[in-house]
Amino acid sequence: MAGMPDRRGDAVAAALGIITVRFGEPMPSAWCHYCGREGADTRDHVVARARGGSNAWWNLVPAHKACNAAKRDGSGYCSCAFCTRARDLNSVLRKAV
Ligand SMILES: [Zn+2]
Ligand SMILES: [Zn+2]
Repeated sequence: MAGMPDRRGDAVAAALGIITVRFGEPMPSAWCHYCGREGADTRDHVVARARGGSNAWWNLVPAHKACNAAKRDGSGYCSCAFCTRARDLNSVLRKAV
């Protein structure tokens, strides 16, 4: 689909120092996107699957299980450029269906 970002050399992830993750790949040693500490052990969907979020790399950030769970109550809403783009792309995808 046009307008989907290329994972390699993605400027948004690079500017924020985000290690991009993908399903089917081993989880890299990464910083948790929400608390900023080491040892992220899950891939969190910026837009949840339950809300139609994509499994694509641009909708996934490394996170601790606990931080991922804390976000579900709405307290961890992230407004960084990476997460903002993920929300934008997911809404475009939903409209395209
Ligand atoms: Zn964390
Ligand atoms: Zn974010």
